[in-house]
Amino acid sequence: MKLNTPASEPSPAAGGILTIDLGALVANWKALASRAASAECAAAVKGDGYGIGLEQAVKSLSEAGCRTFFVALPDEGVRARAVTESARIFVLGGFMPDTGTTLREHNLIPVLNSTEEIEDWQAIARRAGTRLEAAIHVDTGMNRLGLREVEANALVADPKRMEDIEPVLIMSHLACGSDPAHSLNERQRSAFERVRPLFPGCPGSLANSAGIFLGSGYHHDLVRPGIALYGGAALDSHLNDNPMCSVVEAKARVLQVRTVPAGEGIGYGSAETAKRDSRIAITAVGYADGYHRRAGSSDARSGAAGIFNGARLPLIGRVSMDLTAFDVTDCPEPGPKRGDWITILGGAAGLTEVAVAAETIDYELLTGLGRRYERVYR
Ligand SMILES: *Cc1c(COP(=O)(O)O)cnc(C)c1O
Repeated sequence: MKLNTPASEPSPAAGGILTIDLGALVANWKALASRAASAECAAAVKGDGYGIGLEQAVKSLSEAGCRTFFVALPDEGVRARAVTESARIFVLGGFMPDTGTTLREHNLIPVLNSTEEIEDWQAIARRAGTRLEAAIHVDTGMNRLGLREVEANALVADPKRMEDIEPVLIMSHLACGSDPAHSLNERQRSAFERVRPLFPGCPGSLANSAGIFLGSGYHHDLVRPGIALYGGAALDSHLNDNPMCSVVEAKARVLQVRTVPAGEGIGYGSAETAKRDSRIAITAVGYADGYHRRAGSSDARSGAAGIFNGARLPLIGRVSMDLTAFDVTDCPEPGPKRGDWITILGGAAGLTEVAVAAETIDYELLTGLGRRYERVYR
């Protein structure tokens, strides 16, 4: 993995090049921080920094002033800690007693999601003879992780149960934030307002990326954006009009350009038939690179598209493991030739557009970006 390689220098050995614009990542973090100016702006870097590289994301964002990070797993926390000595790192994903040592050794703060987790962390703190920091996650209507409101009430009714725990964040998570009109948003917000006073003086956090766009009533003391940092759509309306900068660009190398006579099928399953005499560019990226098979095209449905010199090239036929075909028949001269690179993600082949073509969401497309790409950071 190379840091600071000029983006214009493709490796001749790779079938695909992933260019990750860390400047755009930082610009997105600053834009979100100013949108939620009354709150601290943290960063979710789980899932290998949403696929762009956890270490690179943590390093750039902490240099830009981000002081709090959220990861899903203790292992991700250890990786983040190797990059920043001083930032707070919260581990979201369910605390297990056997990860207590790892958390403490690397100064990671667990998000406690149930009364059992609280009991276990409390036991570790008591054995250590010290108060240990934790975030308390209260479920306000998502029914995934977090204490139910009645459990939170019962917890604080018995101060002994939290005697050795220093709550440093009380948090909850929105289930439907991407849809500002969804009634659950307001119900979750008011449930969160009810539980916050149970932990007096403790900072509160409800907003993910979507929550930041729902307005200041959702910002509280700390916001936890993920997807919007990486250029993805936080709100459903961002599908067509995304205010964030694009962070990820992927290019696929052209292995050959060939002619297909009208009536012949292309690729596995002969799923798509050439409707006319066609010119097809075969590129060296496929689903093994996280370019989803569902983005493929057939006689029944159209798929994603690539871009070459500004021209849109419809994907034609199925996506194979290592190969994807694009129809270059209508591409203005000079069209792509062997050795050229077709943009398959980024620019006019926007993240969300490709995700929609693949019947998935930006999150899955990003976190699924393969390891085979030559990765270039700038
Ligand atoms: C992933 C996650 C976030 C970030 O969510 P985005 O929708 O990517 O902004 C925030 N909080 C929690 C609890 C999460 O799991």
